[in-house]
Amino acid sequence: ETVLKLSGIQKAYNHGKPNEVSVLRGADLAIVPGEVVALVAPSGAGKSTLLHIAGLLDTPDKGQVEIAGQEMTRLSDRRRTLARRADVGFIYQFHHLLPEFTALENITLPQLAAGKPRAEAEARARELLGQVGVEKRADHRPAALSGGEQQRVAFCRALANAPRLLLADEPTGNLDPDTSDRVFDALMALVRGTGLSALIATHNLELAARMDRVVRMDHGVVA
Ligand code: ADP
Ligand code: ADP
Repeated sequence: ETVLKLSGIQKAYNHGKPNEVSVLRGADLAIVPGEVVALVAPSGAGKSTLLHIAGLLDTPDKGQVEIAGQEMTRLSDRRRTLARRADVGFIYQFHHLLPEFTALENITLPQLAAGKPRAEAEARARELLGQVGVEKRADHRPAALSGGEQQRVAFCRALANAPRLLLADEPTGNLDPDTSDRVFDALMALVRGTGLSALIATHNLELAARMDRVVRMDHGVVA
């Protein structure tokens, strides 16, 4: 049983042009339920490309993407978008919270979009904020939060609709080392608490060592 299965993923940019670059050359990766996997590779190795393909934001030139046993690459764009919204949570290096909305609203909005009643969505948002220790910041806008708090709120938003799979691209990469450690602890507690599967790209080998498994990318394949 796998939550994510990537098989023979190939991806190039600038096809047929002099600056064509082959980023993924047959990448394979399988993640089982509850597993948290670190994706480690130097800048430019193709981590973001792999995460975008795994998260159905981009399509591979070749290869298969399965989420919870369902093959995704042959779905229509519309079906793939629905699958992405239902199954995948994303976290980036920068929080990308909506500046005009409060922390609570940022976590509530995707749930309302998914059809959940407001009271239920807000209750879940408060519960998630509590789990990462920022419940007292529920009514603040992102600009009034520290960098660490902003990322914690972004984690809650990614988990708001209870995805099967969490994809994170340098989730603590813009924080100072101490803050990064604490915020990463909060992320791991949140992920472990829900039994979620995750693929987390990081340059930080100490953080990587705290996950279940470390995979490296080398010359377009996952070692
Ligand atoms: P990483 O996340 O490991 O830094 P990326 O997946 O962002 O790596 O990029 C891998 C390679 O693909 C880099 O050489 C990058 O310049 C190139 N690349 C990424 N996105 C594009 C794009 N949209 N068009 C052209 N080249 C791209
Ligand atoms: P963290 O370790 O989470 O990054 P900081 O040490 O940066 O936290 O911030 C400490 C406290 O100061 C936090 O509770 C945060 O909410 C508050 N704070 C930081 N920046 C601001 C701001 N611009 N406006 C209001 N409160 C802030």
